[in-house]
Amino acid sequence: MASPPGRKRIYLSVPHMGGNEERYVQEAFRTNWLSTVGPNLEQFERDFSARMDTPCVALASGTAAMHLGLRLLGVGPGDTVLCPSLTFVASVNPIGYLGARPIFIDSDRTSWNLDPALLAETLTQRARAGTLPKALVVVHLYGQSADMDPILEVCAEHGVGVLEDAAEALGTLYKGRPAGTLAPLGVFSFNGNKIITTTSGGMLIGHDPAMIERARYWSQQAREPAVEYHHVDVGYNYRMSNVLAGIGRGQLEVLDERVQQRRSVAFRYRDAFARYEGISLMPQAAYGLNTNWLSCFLIDEGVLGISRDALIAALSAEDIESRPVWKPMHLQPLYEGCERHGGDVAEDLYLRGICLPSSSSLTESEQQRVVDVMCAAIDARRTR
Ligand SMILES: *Cc1c(COP(=O)(O)O)cnc(C)c1O
Repeated sequence: MASPPGRKRIYLSVPHMGGNEERYVQEAFRTNWLSTVGPNLEQFERDFSARMDTPCVALASGTAAMHLGLRLLGVGPGDTVLCPSLTFVASVNPIGYLGARPIFIDSDRTSWNLDPALLAETLTQRARAGTLPKALVVVHLYGQSADMDPILEVCAEHGVGVLEDAAEALGTLYKGRPAGTLAPLGVFSFNGNKIITTTSGGMLIGHDPAMIERARYWSQQAREPAVEYHHVDVGYNYRMSNVLAGIGRGQLEVLDERVQQRRSVAFRYRDAFARYEGISLMPQAAYGLNTNWLSCFLIDEGVLGISRDALIAALSAEDIESRPVWKPMHLQPLYEGCERHGGDVAEDLYLRGICLPSSSSLTESEQQRVVDVMCAAIDARRTR
């Protein structure tokens, strides 16, 4: 719907440039490094590696990074891979690219992420049956880390490889350490709606330099180091462009500022809704730092007097974008019939969760517009 003049549509999460991005992009043009090699790529990877203290490879998307990461863990045809049901579809699709099958695990209410107790139970069961999965994809949703210690411990016990999907969790900490660096392999996304962006892009990090070199080789069509085009392995065209890496360099410079801004947005909402019962900010797990990439709230309709969907409709009528929490994978027609473990936490969070506009560039007056619409909708229902 069109906004009245002078009133901009408020989106869920928009790109927010720091200032130096254009300079790095112009450098790429000036020096004609307009391909998937060049100084921006090298510097972006150096900067990212320094921040994470691991080797890394810059890729065309987070999804591509998931695909390569799972292949590095040896996932192949006929294998099974565990993953949370509550996530974005790109956490799961790469399992299928490799001919393997996902098995969905429910979430933990205290973090909204993979339930470690349920994971342990599932692994014990499958170990007994001799059907251990090849790997686990653990996701850090909305900027909150999963509880990694018990997850890594039980996976190590059963020899199950772990890949962290930290696409939504750049800047997130777990016990003081960056999300994405806790398992052997981690994935980040620089899609346009993420905390920093390269318009589209991703990063695979890992502690074993040989693994990252293997991923780099696969990302460039698995071309052997020979003058002629010589191939022994199947690869992909997954490398990031040197132009986009220039955007990444500039964005990484402002990451810490973006984390603070996203957190401020979430806490301003929390304070604005504090006078109501039945609306609560996503839990902030004590073991980590939640960037609150998206400001997510849980609605208790019986107490608040208005449903999550009515709030989305009220915001939409005022040209404000909001969304339900991710629709769980076990409810997707795409993954109908897949094995799943656990109760219905994921489904409950999906049915009652709302993501509010969370851009780091959201001004206080724009945010006040969102708050006013929310409060008016709540107050109207309550006084009826
Ligand atoms: C965004 C996202 C991805 C995929 O990243 P792209 O760069 O968009 O391919 C994967 N997993 C999760 C949880 C995401 O939110």
